[in-house]
Amino acid sequence: MSIKSKFISDDLKLGFNDVKIIPIKSKFESRKLINLQTEYTFPRSKIKWEGVPIIAANMDNVATFDMARALQNYSLCTAVTKFHTPEDWIDGILTGISLDYSFCTFGIESISSIETFFDSIHAKTNIIPKIVVFDVPNGYIKPFHKIVTQFRKKYPSTGIIAGNIVTAEGVQILADCGVDAVKIGIGSGSACSTSSVTGVGYPQLSAVLECAEAAQREKIFTVSDGGANTSGDISKAFIAGANFVMLGGMLAGHEEGNSETVLKDGKIYRKFYGMSSSEAMVKHYNEIAPYRASEGISTLIPDKGNVSNTIDEILGGIRSTCTYINSSNLIEMRNKGKFILVKTS
Ligand code: 5GP
Repeated sequence: MSIKSKFISDDLKLGFNDVKIIPIKSKFESRKLINLQTEYTFPRSKIKWEGVPIIAANMDNVATFDMARALQNYSLCTAVTKFHTPEDWIDGILTGISLDYSFCTFGIESISSIETFFDSIHAKTNIIPKIVVFDVPNGYIKPFHKIVTQFRKKYPSTGIIAGNIVTAEGVQILADCGVDAVKIGIGSGSACSTSSVTGVGYPQLSAVLECAEAAQREKIFTVSDGGANTSGDISKAFIAGANFVMLGGMLAGHEEGNSETVLKDGKIYRKFYGMSSSEAMVKHYNEIAPYRASEGISTLIPDKGNVSNTIDEILGGIRSTCTYINSSNLIEMRNKGKFILVKTS
């Protein structure tokens, strides 16, 4: 066995911090001239979508219906967690939740349980969710491919985002299942401990660059999920080829996440934990299955108040990136943005 055969390539794989975006001559002197509203036609379901392609991650204390209500005012999306019931969806829809911006999340369920879920919503509202997110930590497993394929057959005109994967092989497998978009990211989430628990992971920027190239060949979209800690990271993800960027930690700690507040040393904090953490497993399944290790962390983050302040900052930051690279919108930004490697240590 050669040492070389133990590595897939000689490339160094990069995270967001390993690069910076270089400025170019620009005609946009003000952020006011930048429009982040983006129009997409989903490649398989043919859904027409228009909005700011940022999605609140399907995590407790992040992707609630209150968050969805707040974010849709900015035409941002929410992957509402799978722990919401059809009744929650019915209430949400009847009280003005937009299905353009609120996505329904599933893991590995049976197709019949999904049909029942949708039928219950349809019976009371006459509609079903427009876009679904199939989310598992490891998007390389067969039962996941089976349910996504079955769903696509049953619901040909519903948008499907599925993941997570981090390689061109993963993109190809999910494209064959009929997805509109692959969700990219393993080991890079802010509440994720997969890389230390299992040793598995892929630096997020390289994962997006490589998967976006593969997705372009398959004519499907990409969602960068995990590892964005600043608006600059979000801009880097778009430039690397993401059609959407999903955010967990950046949208945690807000009132709209409805988490408990904790008073510590005179300061208000809010809970944030990974969906594979012991805390999440105990909360949703009352136990940690004996064969499972926690792959997520629990933490307290300082209360960030109303999410609108954070959104204004994020969108302002991305608009500012656009002014540096002569781009009036995200599509131009993706085409014109270029990186340089930087030394991070
Ligand atoms: P963030 O924006 O916080 O960096 O990343 C959000 C993403 O982290 C989520 O969308 C999801 O893919 C991932 N994630 C959430 N909880 C966990 C967890 O407990 N373990 C792992 N491995 N990943 C998680």
